[in-house]
Amino acid sequence: MINKWNDWLQKIKNSDLFHRTQWRLTALYSGILMVFLTLFIAIAAFLFYLVATNDQERRIISLVNQEQKAIEQFLLKQSDFDFFDEESVVLLNEDQFFFYVVGTDGQLIAGDEVNKYMRPFLLKALQESRVNEHVPTYVTVDIPEQLAAFTRLHSHELRLLTAARPVVLHGNVIGILYVGVDVTSFFNIFRWLLVVLIGLAILFIGVAVVLSYFMSKRALIPIQEAYDRQRQFVADASHELRTPLSVIFSSVEALAMEEEVTKNEFAHKLLTRLREELKRMTKLINDLLTLARADAKHASLQLVKETFDFRPYAERTLQLLSELAAKKQIQMHLHAPESIIITADADKLTQLLYILLDNAIKYTPDHGEVSLSLRLEPWKQQKRLTISVKDTGIGIPPEAIRRIFDRFYRVDKARSRQQGGHGLGLSIAKWIVDAHGGTIDVQSEVGKGSEFIVKIPC
Ligand code: ADP
Repeated sequence: MINKWNDWLQKIKNSDLFHRTQWRLTALYSGILMVFLTLFIAIAAFLFYLVATNDQERRIISLVNQEQKAIEQFLLKQSDFDFFDEESVVLLNEDQFFFYVVGTDGQLIAGDEVNKYMRPFLLKALQESRVNEHVPTYVTVDIPEQLAAFTRLHSHELRLLTAARPVVLHGNVIGILYVGVDVTSFFNIFRWLLVVLIGLAILFIGVAVVLSYFMSKRALIPIQEAYDRQRQFVADASHELRTPLSVIFSSVEALAMEEEVTKNEFAHKLLTRLREELKRMTKLINDLLTLARADAKHASLQLVKETFDFRPYAERTLQLLSELAAKKQIQMHLHAPESIIITADADKLTQLLYILLDNAIKYTPDHGEVSLSLRLEPWKQQKRLTISVKDTGIGIPPEAIRRIFDRFYRVDKARSRQQGGHGLGLSIAKWIVDAHGGTIDVQSEVGKGSEFIVKIPC
């Protein structure tokens, strides 16, 4: 269950920005509604409870006062309880459950109740609940099941509201009068009311989640359209720029080979710089096009999965970059088993490897080391490829780590530009990893080096 929930959360995390925003809005809308509903239920239930209990307390106070007066008047005439006739003095009204007069010595002087078998339980509950003369008290009386059945009670737990008053004769307190009314049905109704309210709230929250999902979807439609148009514009612009750029590039190449140019040092220098800038621009346009197409889920960027041995691809990538590494006298190492058979998109994984290794070389000073480790391990009934690219380079400051995958983000713009970077490499790397359902993490220490760890299920 928890696994399924985690998978679902992971799925949302990996889904596109609009889907994520839609879920976030849904959660926000329903969350707000949930808070208001809960508050509404709590306030409604509390008010109902307050009004109902206030009314009950008012009634029992009036009852106990009446009965106190009746008993005291009887005693004035009679001076003791010997001929006390409960019925004539104290009327047990409809929901009155008992009345007792307990003497100062704790002995019961007079009393009556709905059912005489309950007397010991009622007296015990009164004693335990410390019913006093100041405020009415709610008392719970546990009635044995057999007695409850015998007396046709619906529950063997009675809820009574009780009140007490002193019985005074010629200025002396001769006992305490206790009066109780049955409020069990009120508590039962209150409990049911709560259940119904909570049930309704759950139902409304369900409806609210569905409604907010559709409402947030509708709200996002114009934004999605504007975003799509802008994405299409970037894709079209990069595509259109590619052709003139390649024409300029080949013209510059041809010019550079002209005899007059090779002899003219100034022209040669100018052309070499022009060629470098054109190379940079072509790379930038290609990267932009890749990302724009990836965003648009362009058919040319769909993953083409096949089963292959990844090791030769890794060796070839290292070979391609060996010249760059040799220029800086950087040593490159490969740690990998003889063969790594995986099912993935070979070209995209090679591109990912190229980006990470290229960065490692770019951001490692001369005489440093770059090592690539590949490992295949069992994972969730399938296999997982772990790629680690470790360098002894300049490292990345902790505050920059979470931003390096953002488009056009560079820790040190001048340095990155000098190395021929424009801040799109890691965005493409992240997209490749995401498209494979994997993860990419970075561990880095400024001045010591960085390690990029990619985990891809395959
Ligand atoms: P760039 O083309 O500038 O290299 P990337 O997207 O590949 O762009 O990388 C973004 C930024 O992350 C780089 O500008 C650099 O500051 C930092 N970075 C990437 N890889 C490394 C690394 N191995 N060592 C130090 N910094 C790195």
